[in-house]
Amino acid sequence: MNLTDTFNRQINYLRLSVTDRCNMRCFYCMPAEGVQNIGHDAVLSYEELQLIAESAVSLGIEKIRITGGEPTVRAGIVQFMAGLAAIPGLRHLALTTNGQLLEKMASELYQAGVQRLNVSLDSLNPQTFHKITRGGDLTKVLAGLDAAVDAGFPPPKINIVIMRGINDAEILDFAELTRSRGNSVRFIEYMPAVKDDGWQRLCFPGEEVLQRIRERYSLESVNKGNFAGPSQDFRIPGATGSIGIITAVSGHFCSDCNRIRVTARGQAKGCLFSDEKTDLAPFLRPPDREGLAKVLQEIVQSKPEGHGIRCGEYSHSNFSMAQIGG
Ligand code: SAM
Ligand code: SF4
Repeated sequence: MNLTDTFNRQINYLRLSVTDRCNMRCFYCMPAEGVQNIGHDAVLSYEELQLIAESAVSLGIEKIRITGGEPTVRAGIVQFMAGLAAIPGLRHLALTTNGQLLEKMASELYQAGVQRLNVSLDSLNPQTFHKITRGGDLTKVLAGLDAAVDAGFPPPKINIVIMRGINDAEILDFAELTRSRGNSVRFIEYMPAVKDDGWQRLCFPGEEVLQRIRERYSLESVNKGNFAGPSQDFRIPGATGSIGIITAVSGHFCSDCNRIRVTARGQAKGCLFSDEKTDLAPFLRPPDREGLAKVLQEIVQSKPEGHGIRCGEYSHSNFSMAQIGG
């Protein structure tokens, strides 16, 4: 089955959040005090999340990424992943993590059937990393990356949120990881989420990332696969990993959008930056498979063409990426 929206985009990718809790406090994602944790009753149970995943796959979703908050902090996540991996028709099962617990969990996640890991890593400097994450431990992330490969995973994709004056001096170090460690690295433009009136000072366009890299390396374009989503991908000749830019703010993004999102509370969203959301809970308690399938189709059909965020123009309402899943 094929899920196509009204702008002729094929929607084959679901980002499913399993928690809004996190063991870090990245300053661009949530306030220092954390987000107000939702009660256990409000969070969807694993059975409910499984129902959503099954329904989405039956409609044409082929890739599911589990996200959060930090998915590895939710008890029972490994068994949940194994249940997802068993859904007939699901071709790609991935998980995004901050890597703090990965060293311990990599092997069981691999055994459960997770195919790919994305690891968020914003600095290779321990102090800068600690500052951005308000307390995270870089050595744990690096140990997690190694453990993932030892467990059998392909080298995890590394996501770096690139911010002027914070970590842009490390662009070439991250580019070098695609050669030295074989990781693919994706530079994500900082998006205004946590309320910060001066957020524009942090903007660092993806094109400028490429410019900096081209000062040292030549870059060749990489043909993206069907599930790559809205990144533009390149490679340093001879490198195993690729370099991607996700220009969520400066452009070249929405026309390739292939995803829908569901939060840990069961709010489905067709666009990260749209205020529109649909509560799936009425279709889960008690389970109504037919109603659920119908409402998921409606969410795809109501996906907006794009968002209006541009560096310099947008004033935003306060939200935490941890509550939506990034
Ligand atoms: N805790 C996990 C992690 O950090 O990988 C998964 C959830 S996190 C919300 C998912 C992704 O969203 C991470 O790669 C994170 O860097 C990204 N993200 C969070 N806030 C962001 C922001 N304001 N701008 C751009 N990316 C952001
Ligand atoms: Fe936690 Fe991920 Fe948000 Fe950082 S980006 S605070 S690790 S949810």
